Amino acid sequence: MKFIILIGPPGAGKGTQAKLLEESLGLPQVSTGDLFRYNLKNATELGKLAQTYMDKGELVPDSVTVAMVKERLARPDAANGAILDGFPRTTVQADVLDALLAEMGGHIAVVPHIVVDREELVQRLLKRAQIEGRADDSEDTIRTRMRVYEEQTKPLLDYYAQRGLVVEVNGQQCVETVQQDLRRVITQAA
Ligand code: AMP
Repeated sequence: MKFIILIGPPGAGKGTQAKLLEESLGLPQVSTGDLFRYNLKNATELGKLAQTYMDKGELVPDSVTVAMVKERLARPDAANGAILDGFPRTTVQADVLDALLAEMGGHIAVVPHIVVDREELVQRLLKRAQIEGRADDSEDTIRTRMRVYEEQTKPLLDYYAQRGLVVEVNGQQCVETVQQDLRRVITQAA
C-alpha cells in the first residue's frame, strides 16, 4: 500500500497533477477539498458543517476531516494506496495518517512539494475564480488560505523532510513538464 502526498500552496496545481497521475500510477486521487465540495453540493450534514470554514478559507476541524478520510481510504479502490491531495494539512492530521497507515500496512513513498511563488499563485487563483466560480477563490479568502497554508501546512514539510521524504518540484513550468518531473520523482522513490 503506497501513498504519495502532494504538498503545495493553494493554486500550485495539486489537483490537476493528481488527476494526471491517477492513471499512470493506478492509484486514486483522494482530495479532501473535492470530498468537501461534493458534500456541500449534496447538502449533506458534513457539507453543511464544512461550509462555514470553507467559505472563510479556514481549515475544517481535524476530527471531521480525519473521519472523512478514514472512510474514503477504506473503499476498495484505495486498496493499493492513494495520491493524497490536500491531506494532511496539519501536524495532527499527519500524526493520524501515520497511525492509520501503520494499522493498514501502508507507507508514504514520497512527498513531492510543488513550489510556486506567491505572485503567480494569486494570479492563478483569481483566474480560476473567473473560470470555475469557486466560492473560496475571492481575494479575501485567497489571502486567508495562503496564511493558513504558511502557518499550518508548511510545518509539515519539516516533519516529512526529517524522514527524507520531501522532494521539490518546480510548479512554475507547463502542466506536462510538472507531470514529467513528478513521475520521475515518484519512480525514483518507489
Ligand atoms: P482545497 O480544494 O484543497 O483547496 O480545499 C478547499 C477547502 O476545503 C479548504 O480551504 C478547507 O476549508 C477545506 N479542506 C480541504 N482539505 C482540508 C484538510 N485536509 N483539513 C481541513 N480542511 C480542509
